[in-house]
Amino acid sequence: MGNYAKSEPTHYLQVALPTPLRRVFDYLPPKSGIDFLRPGIRLKVPFGPRKLIGILIAITAKTDIPLANLKRVEQVLDEQPIIPKDILELCRWVAHYYHYSLGETLGTATPTALRQGRPVAQQTRKLWRLTYPNAEAPSHIARNAKLQLAAWQLLKQHLKGLHEPMLKSLGVSNQTLSALEKKGEAECIYENLPTLHTMPQSILHEAPLTLNPEQAHVVQQILQTAQQFQVFLLQGITGSGKTEVYLQLIEQTLKAGRQALVLIPEIGLTPQTLHRFEQRFAVPIAVIHSGLNDNERYLAWQKAVDYRVGIIIGTRSAVFTPLAKPGLIIIDEEHDASYKQQDSLRYSARDIAIYRARQANIPIVLGSATPSLESVHNAQTHRYRHLHLSQRAGQAKPPSIELLNIRGETLQAGLSPALQQKITQHLEKGQQVLIFINRRGYAPTLLCHECGWVADCPDCDAHLTIHRQPPHLHCHHCDYQQSIPVRCGHCNTASLFPVGAGTERIEDFLLSQFDPIPIIRIDRDSTRGKTRLQELFSDIHQGKPAILVGTQMLAKGHHFPKVTLVAILDADSGLFSTDFRGLERLGQLVTQVAGRAGRGKLAGEVIIQTHHPESPVLNRLVTEGYEVFAKTLLAEREKLSLPPYSYLGLFRVECKNQEEGERLLLQLRELISQFLQYNNLNGPLGVTLLGPLPAPMEKRQSWYRWQLLISSPSRQPLHTAITFAIHQLEGGTQAMIKLARKVRWSVDIDPQDM
Ligand code: ADP
Ligand code: ZN
Ligand code: ZN
Repeated sequence: MGNYAKSEPTHYLQVALPTPLRRVFDYLPPKSGIDFLRPGIRLKVPFGPRKLIGILIAITAKTDIPLANLKRVEQVLDEQPIIPKDILELCRWVAHYYHYSLGETLGTATPTALRQGRPVAQQTRKLWRLTYPNAEAPSHIARNAKLQLAAWQLLKQHLKGLHEPMLKSLGVSNQTLSALEKKGEAECIYENLPTLHTMPQSILHEAPLTLNPEQAHVVQQILQTAQQFQVFLLQGITGSGKTEVYLQLIEQTLKAGRQALVLIPEIGLTPQTLHRFEQRFAVPIAVIHSGLNDNERYLAWQKAVDYRVGIIIGTRSAVFTPLAKPGLIIIDEEHDASYKQQDSLRYSARDIAIYRARQANIPIVLGSATPSLESVHNAQTHRYRHLHLSQRAGQAKPPSIELLNIRGETLQAGLSPALQQKITQHLEKGQQVLIFINRRGYAPTLLCHECGWVADCPDCDAHLTIHRQPPHLHCHHCDYQQSIPVRCGHCNTASLFPVGAGTERIEDFLLSQFDPIPIIRIDRDSTRGKTRLQELFSDIHQGKPAILVGTQMLAKGHHFPKVTLVAILDADSGLFSTDFRGLERLGQLVTQVAGRAGRGKLAGEVIIQTHHPESPVLNRLVTEGYEVFAKTLLAEREKLSLPPYSYLGLFRVECKNQEEGERLLLQLRELISQFLQYNNLNGPLGVTLLGPLPAPMEKRQSWYRWQLLISSPSRQPLHTAITFAIHQLEGGTQAMIKLARKVRWSVDIDPQDM
């Protein structure tokens, strides 16, 4: 009888574990019971032959697991949750929305040190005090609970409270204190080490700029809704003073005793933005990006939770930083593709940030000169408030843009004679020139003049790029490298030559043509090493005549006052992209790169080389600007029911055996079809399936890649179908599970690259 009562537990622990399985796991509570357990603490548990560290998600009274199969938690690692409640809740939503394992979502969201079970640094002190300091006698403590009564009396003598170590030295145990807490007689507060509450406060290092009327209007609009949720789309042309708007909003946020979270696309590429923040604010700032080692990331996370920093600036993953006092979120360059993670948990930091703002009931500002069509659409349908900055701040004037017809022209390293003349003119005036090409290396192809053979990557469906510094062939998709052959791999004649031009070749050409003008090349190869990029930037900032040649690293957020001519060499590649977002990206790129011209007092000029100067989209972009261009593209998307007029989910499969991926997706497609039919979810208003199709690059790193696209005009049926499909892959028929295990499969919600 007694045995029976003992063997039936009353509580179970739901634990998220770092495994790809999309579920939580039930465990028996530790022998010490559940009294001190709260969601968000770490637990060490047995998992098969291993031990894993997981996060307690919930304590439940029921489990579906037979008692005999339940294992007991081995160790409780924390007294206090290491993951605050709101972040835990956020991660649950993220895991659900992206159809990803909660344990691995928590892993992405938290610093590795925490996941590995490292103790949390003691930055808080526990102070115990009476809940009702005026009460004459405790009302809930039985007379025979002597220890509790004694502790109550001690606290009555110290109404300001006593720190836990002091209580311990006075003989009061934690157990006694917890008992008092449970009865509502005593309470524990966590006293933080110095925080922004207690620090001597002067928020600013320097005075803010006087806002121009447009900026002032924007700031006022946003401040009006401070302290409640609202998404603002701040569309401001490059150089219109968006950053100044951010700074002044943050100033107000700090004055209200709250913190600001600022996301930027890439820290290394925006040192100037960071520098401006540090110059403006006297309040401590935490910087979080992928270049931090784990300890640094961990410290930054701690500072944010403990309210020891007022501003958190970071890249994508910083969106998970817990905030003690959230007040404002800013996403700079909201259209930037780097906000979407392209592997494992394929999340959009922008979309998660919007969820967080709603959760914390605070405003969020999405800033961009070239907002994504999704955001423009949300502004048009009044889900976001659309704010504009249409003029350049300060004295700079917008540049003039010209489409330069290069049909039939002889190009040298990709440059037409007319462009070369322009470059000379600007250099002669003592100014700088920026040449943009989205292709690093010397040339994209090595071709045999005799037989047409091309040097290809053995592992990818891709040509090898020729590099000269140092000389080698390189696959930009899988990193495969080899020396440059002298003879053709097919006909063995020695007549191989490079076709096309990348940054290195353009640099070579410019050096020979414009000697002694310095040529500054900026791409991933020329900026290896931590300080290299900063060195190159400071060369540019000396302001002497120079030609800058670079990839999209040059397109982002930089301010080069002496650059007056910007040339875009290969705009045409964007006109014929297979991705439906190709034109949107082209428009963003052209506008952003053009925005680098004439940022100082000198007027700027932009030249776009093209074989299609009559192209209506290009002309619309050039003459009417990004906003009109975006509206045209949106109309097109609506006709074709493409995002943002529909929602997408993409099943990707990678396999070594080419036919397995297709077979798996064919079977999956069949199952989903039946499911849709059965649930009346088929048809144009329901869910549509496209595929299986080979990925645009079918073979990569010797994996064959297939995909199945699922789309729907509303989110709910899309997610229903995806949930069903995942169930089939993880727990369907034996044949299905077996096939699914042979390949690598993943699901991408709101995919960006297809
Ligand atoms: P964006 O972020 O929109 O590209 P920035 O905030 O970098 O623009 O501003 C561009 C330039 O204009 C910067 O040099 C900035 O200092 C200056 N600027 C911004 N706002 C003002 C203002 N209200 N008065 C004077 N100069 C300003
Ligand atoms: Zn040949
Ligand atoms: Zn390759």
